[in-house]
Amino acid sequence: MVLDNLGSSLRGSLDKLRGKSRLDEDDVQEIVKEIQRSLLSADVDVSLVMDLSDSIKTRALEEEPPGGTSARDHVLKIVYEELVGLIGESTDIPLESQTIMLAGLQGSGKTTTSAKMAWWFSKKGLRPAVIQTDTFRPGAYDQAKQMCERAEVDFYGDPDCDDPVQIARDGLEATEDAEVHIVDTAGRHALEDDLIAEIEEIESVVQPDLNMLVLDAAIGQGAKEQAQQFDESIGIGGVVITKLDGTAKGGGALTAVNETDSSIGFLGMGETVQDIERFEPNGFISRLLG
Ligand code: GDP
Repeated sequence: MVLDNLGSSLRGSLDKLRGKSRLDEDDVQEIVKEIQRSLLSADVDVSLVMDLSDSIKTRALEEEPPGGTSARDHVLKIVYEELVGLIGESTDIPLESQTIMLAGLQGSGKTTTSAKMAWWFSKKGLRPAVIQTDTFRPGAYDQAKQMCERAEVDFYGDPDCDDPVQIARDGLEATEDAEVHIVDTAGRHALEDDLIAEIEEIESVVQPDLNMLVLDAAIGQGAKEQAQQFDESIGIGGVVITKLDGTAKGGGALTAVNETDSSIGFLGMGETVQDIERFEPNGFISRLLG
């Protein structure tokens, strides 16, 4: 367990424990307070932060540090384990033929993510294709096409067709040689009934193996309603957090993970096709606490 980049005040509180072999209530209280401060400023939902605080407090006071372990390392291990319990491991993305559909609001980064994921699969030796069904946002077609050209992956879209379900159907046929199909869908500025109806229809044609919810790292508390709605309509199996190259820490995505009982699969780290990383809990936790 390595927690890099801990915030300076949390590190300060932990450093006060150096040389101690047991934790008292005040020690634990101080550390939990620092963790709460970091998580809340990273947009983690208040009730999740409170649940986590309770578990950390209970465990830190009740569990005996194993022989030879300092109080500092003991509490750090508990904090890490509890956060991993909440965040989970990375979404399982098998390197085999599959169809993944992306859902999310307009501007969350779906189109960019579809090309990035295709690039990622192509680097893993699979043949991916992006099917662009976003007929709602002007420019989505050109943007996806250009990014797929840059990523050197197959692409299907039809700027002359305004029926996303038809595009999805035609797209699957046109890209049948591809092993991995990534289906980009339209968003809206807000959750609207027609958005949900449309994505349900596309889903019934595409029958994805995995539906991923794409969330902007700055989403905050808005993640909850989106996660609930998309999960109810199509079932969300994984989350992608975009724009983590900015200052937002993406804590709101934990609400989505919690609501959908899923996990985080990919992180968007910039605007170009290569700016994608597989989610990995350690780095993300360090960032949340940083
Ligand atoms: P969509 O409406 O959900 O398809 O969103 P787009 O893919 O068009 O993304 C919206 C904006 O966010 C575009 O300007 C993208 O270039 C930008 N964007 C997407 N992902 C990232 C990211 O990981 N980092 C940064 N900095 N910008 C991103």
